[in-house]
Amino acid sequence: MKDRTGKDRTISSNWARQTQMVRAGSMRSNLDEMSEALFLTSGFAYETAEEAEARFDGRAEGFTYSRQTNPTVAMFEERMAVLEGAEVARATGTGMAAMTASLLAGLKAGDHVVGARALFGSCRWLLDELLPRYGIETTLVDGRDLDAWKAAATSSTKVFFLETPANPTLEIIDLKAVADIAHENDALLVVDNVFATPVLQRPMELGADIVCYSATKHIDGQGRCLGGVVLCDKKFDEDFLYPYYRHTGCAMSPFNAWVMLKGLETLSLRVRAMCDSAETVAAAMADRLSDVRHPARKDFAQHTLAMSQMSRGGTMVVTELPGGREQAFAFLNALEIIDISNNLGDSRSIATHPWSTTHKALAEDARLELGITPGLLRLSVGLEDPTDLVADIARALDTAGVR
Ligand SMILES: *Cc1c(COP(=O)(O)O)cnc(C)c1O
Repeated sequence: MKDRTGKDRTISSNWARQTQMVRAGSMRSNLDEMSEALFLTSGFAYETAEEAEARFDGRAEGFTYSRQTNPTVAMFEERMAVLEGAEVARATGTGMAAMTASLLAGLKAGDHVVGARALFGSCRWLLDELLPRYGIETTLVDGRDLDAWKAAATSSTKVFFLETPANPTLEIIDLKAVADIAHENDALLVVDNVFATPVLQRPMELGADIVCYSATKHIDGQGRCLGGVVLCDKKFDEDFLYPYYRHTGCAMSPFNAWVMLKGLETLSLRVRAMCDSAETVAAAMADRLSDVRHPARKDFAQHTLAMSQMSRGGTMVVTELPGGREQAFAFLNALEIIDISNNLGDSRSIATHPWSTTHKALAEDARLELGITPGLLRLSVGLEDPTDLVADIARALDTAGVR
């Protein structure tokens, strides 16, 4: 099968994943450049009027307008599709554009969506506020409770939506089991796989129909560009995603796609190093705190399930300080290396206080129901030497009065 980059995917799909991350989807121009070219162009010209007509009809291969496809963006999309084992990838301007496209592209008034209640703040807003405005009913369930998914499904249910591990509490949802329940109800399972990354978790192999990423996170991984991607099969793309994508204008910029291509080359090296450091940091924190959450730890509540669907525990560590908001703020303010920020998956370690920032838009009782308490801290472990991170955290815990 020829893809949009003119390559036969049967070759790259047989490569090892590390090779795919470096090479899949690359397309050289007639100048034989080594690094992927940045095609910073909005449109394309045609030799003849007949050629323009044929490209618009889809009879001739080639590009027309970068809102639809662009060569640099197509290289990124092809690399992501090969990596995920998906037929199609569509790159979007942000992660939220990807999440929104995956839902709005195929849904209509009268449809019903079941979502896990523990979601990235803006994904919760899509389900709580945006979809109902257009007559799409939504039901939120505790994603860990399989009976709740079953009970929530109705004859109108078209989509199950979830993320695992969930932001910010690291709740784990059984992907295979929820995919089976979705399919028994003729619904699609859409998975936001940002926390696990394509390196650690393969939702499509477990039954997911659509996988979405914020490429802003680990895929760029160096805090430079926003981006997202939706991965699905050809049928969903042709029937729903591509028409939505090209007409609503959620495309990724070629420059950002070029940055993301470079990010993918080192993705698995970075993610594995960050997982190593996250384990080291979590172990050091557990010496002083009773509640330290990292999926690879034996004392993590859903350790067995997490390790059955993820190859490593991930790059995030979560803890709850006993002294609540005051102690959490004292800890954050005492950090010297780790930044206070709300991004994640970055080469720089980041500490976040979800209660007062990323999840502040949720009502207090909704936050508490999700386990987002005033003392909760989320740590995205980066690529610094873990010895320095452990020392930074130890000093901040001292200052915050954690004994
Ligand atoms: C960041 C994030 C998003 C949204 O991505 P943006 O690139 O910021 O739009 C969605 N889901 C999860 C889990 C995220 O971490």
